[in-house]
Amino acid sequence: MFIEPRVGNARETPRRGWIEVVCGSMFSGKTEELIRRLNRARIARQHVEIFKPALDTRYHELDVVSHNANSIRSTPVQLPEEMLLLASGCDVVGIDEAQFFDASVVDVCIQLANHGKRVIVAGLDMDYMGKPFGPMPALMAVAEYVTKVHAVCVRCGEIASYSFRIAASEDKILLGETDSYEARCRHCFLEGLKDKSEEAEASGATVKHQ
Ligand code: ADP
Ligand code: MG
Repeated sequence: MFIEPRVGNARETPRRGWIEVVCGSMFSGKTEELIRRLNRARIARQHVEIFKPALDTRYHELDVVSHNANSIRSTPVQLPEEMLLLASGCDVVGIDEAQFFDASVVDVCIQLANHGKRVIVAGLDMDYMGKPFGPMPALMAVAEYVTKVHAVCVRCGEIASYSFRIAASEDKILLGETDSYEARCRHCFLEGLKDKSEEAEASGATVKHQ
């Protein structure tokens, strides 16, 4: 379990910032872990702000909600730059679903940390094809602390690192839940891709391979 390097140092001047990344597949507990860290910061009487991309309104317009229904109030933003102003008065900045932001989120996180803020970023490290997702690789590179969390493969019960898309869409972004995605281990993920391409071949469609 991640132990905060420093929690209750509100009187430290000047405050020192850093970046934490929580990454993994869908259902791996990223949001749960983000909420856990933010709640602990609040207990330490730190001023916390939470942001998410405005396009992610799956469960709630304002809350960040985990799959086990934990939630915390957040501010949806269109552009990462909005966080610079909105977070100016706080000690800790939480960002969920960071993979949906463009590359500018990396510089925004660096600026926030350089200004003394603890920045906790959660996001999918891979897309539904198993490819690195948007700004996540760069965020992991500039972070002081990276935690990879894992789901359970719904096929075989092994540790799962992949988000397998059950739905037919080939859009990179398809907001969805258990009806659209499954957490799968490497083996079952590859099996699923193979089945999909065999099905597509049988129906005469072309499929992009990994
Ligand atoms: P994430 O933000 O990574 O998508 P959440 O924090 O929202 O994940 O949800 C994690 C919770 O999802 C778990 O505590 C568990 O209750 C639930 N869950 C549903 N399917 C799975 C799965 N295949 N593996 C692990 N947890 C799962
Ligand atoms: Mg989540």
